[in-house]
Amino acid sequence: MAINLVMFGPPGAGKGTQASRLAAERGIPQISTGDILREAVQSGTELGRRAQAVMDAGELVSDDIMVGIVRERLGRADTAAGFVLDGFPRTVAQATALDGILDGRTALMVLELAVPDQELMERLTRRRVCAGCGAIVASGEGVETCERCGAGLTQRSDDRPDVVRERLRVYHQQTSPLVAFYRTRPRFREIDGSQPPDVVAAAVRQAIDAVDGATS
Ligand code: AMP
Repeated sequence: MAINLVMFGPPGAGKGTQASRLAAERGIPQISTGDILREAVQSGTELGRRAQAVMDAGELVSDDIMVGIVRERLGRADTAAGFVLDGFPRTVAQATALDGILDGRTALMVLELAVPDQELMERLTRRRVCAGCGAIVASGEGVETCERCGAGLTQRSDDRPDVVRERLRVYHQQTSPLVAFYRTRPRFREIDGSQPPDVVAAAVRQAIDAVDGATS
């Protein structure tokens, strides 16, 4: 059965890390709306021009734009065996639209990575991204290059402390209501995202097996 999964949680919870591991393990696409927007900014498209200021302020890009992007992406053939959504949905309107887009496909599985705010703040302001291979790493004393490929590390412009504070505020105001939206569904699970990445990855696998066993 297809795994149609939403990796849900606040910024810095590890959604990208876990989504990319899971997608590689299962051979299904990771669909990160943040990555799609950052690529559009890089290539200077109309979408990128419209999204950049919003992203740099830590606010959300409009539901219409985001739903359009995801509708198009989920319409492609490579999602037939499943997908991992990372960073979408972020509002109740997006979640409602997603239900409509997926009508008739395998029911969504939603995994929430829960991490306390204080830890998110620390993780996000220390987060660096490898300019070569895209690996996400925590900055440490004197660490300036990627351990995997040796390229330089960069900081996302929205990982500065003032923007991080706004992103967390926006999360609590507009995105966390989605927990109530999904919580009563049989294919929802909460995972302690404050554990080390390998432990979280094992919990993700276990949750998927448990949900599949209970609801298929
Ligand atoms: P992320 O990489 O998921 O943290 O996303 C980076 C930024 O892209 C967010 O702070 C938003 O400005 C924008 N963004 C990504 N996904 C969405 C979405 N589903 N709805 C609205 N804005 C989004």
